[in-house]
Amino acid sequence: MDERWDVVVVGSVNADLVVGVDRRPAPGETVLGSDLAVHPGGKGANQAVAAARLGGRAALVGRVGDDGHGALLREALAADGVGLDHLATTPGVPTGVALITVGPDGDNSIIVSPGANARLGPDDVAAARGLIAAASVVSFQLEVPPPAVAAAARVAAGAGGRVVLNLSPPAPVPAELLARCDPLVVNEHEAAFLLGGERGDPRDTAAALARSGPRSAVVTLGADGAVVAGGDRVTAIPAPRADAVDTTGAGDAFTAALCLRLARGDTLEDAARYAVRAGAAAVRRRGAQSSFPTPTELPAP
Ligand code: ADP
Repeated sequence: MDERWDVVVVGSVNADLVVGVDRRPAPGETVLGSDLAVHPGGKGANQAVAAARLGGRAALVGRVGDDGHGALLREALAADGVGLDHLATTPGVPTGVALITVGPDGDNSIIVSPGANARLGPDDVAAARGLIAAASVVSFQLEVPPPAVAAAARVAAGAGGRVVLNLSPPAPVPAELLARCDPLVVNEHEAAFLLGGERGDPRDTAAALARSGPRSAVVTLGADGAVVAGGDRVTAIPAPRADAVDTTGAGDAFTAALCLRLARGDTLEDAARYAVRAGAAAVRRRGAQSSFPTPTELPAP
C-alpha cells in the first residue's frame, strides 16, 4: 500500500537559466549580459515545492537528465521534502531548461527546451500508478507530453482522486481530460485561449469555462484575485493587497495552495480564499521557488 499524499504533481522540472540584458540581440547580433543565475524551476517542480512548503505532503512524477542540472534540481526538491520516488532520470538526455532573458523593465523572454520532460510517458505513469492512485489531489500542467497527462488523470480519477489541471502553457485539452478537471485553473490569457474570444467580465469568463466541460473552473486575475465557478455558483475571491516585487511563480503558488486545501477537505471557494493568500505572498519576493511562502508567511485573509 502506497503512502497517502495530499498532492501528487505530474509535471515538469526545469533549470531556469537567467541573464539580464540592456536590450535583446537582433538576429545575427551578440550582446553582453549579466552574470548567469541558475534557479530551480519548471511548473511541476514549482507546484510540488509550493505545496510542500505550505506543510503539505507532496510528491512529484517527472523526469530529469543525468546531468548537473538534474542533480541540482533533485537536491532543491529534496530540501523542501518533496517525495521523489518517481522522479526518474533519463540517461543521455539533458534536463529541461528555460533560457530566460530579463530586459531593463523586468520583462522576461523565455525559451523552454523540454529535454527529459519530453520523455515522460505512459510507462512512467504505470510505474507511479500506486502513488497516483493514493493521492487526494493529482495536479497537472502542460509542460509534459499530453499522453502522460491523460494516462495519469485516468488513473487518478479511477481511484477517486481529484484532478486539477493548470492550463499552462495553453494548449487544446481533449474532452475526456477536461471532464475530469475539478477545477480547471487558468489565468486570463489561458481563459481567452480556451474560449477563443476577447477578455470579458471575469465572472462571465469563469462561468463560460465551467460550462465548457470541466466540473469546475478557477480564473486567476493577478492583483484582483480569482473567480471560482462550479455548479450554479460563481464567486469572486479578492486577493490581499501586496507590494509586488516579482510575479514569477504566483500562479504556481496559487494552484499548489488550492490543491493542498482541496486535499484537506476545503470547499473550492475556501481553498481559493487560501490560495490567493499564497499567490500574494509569492509576489513579495523575487524568483519562483525562492518566493513561495511557509504558512506563517501568508498575509492575513
Ligand atoms: P499567473 O502567474 O499564472 O499569470 P496570476 O497573475 O493571475 O497568475 O496570479 C495568480 C494569483 O497570485 C492571483 O490569483 C493572486 O492571488 C496572486 N497575485 C498575483 N499578482 C498579485 C498582486 N500584484 N497582488 C496580490 N496578489 C497577486
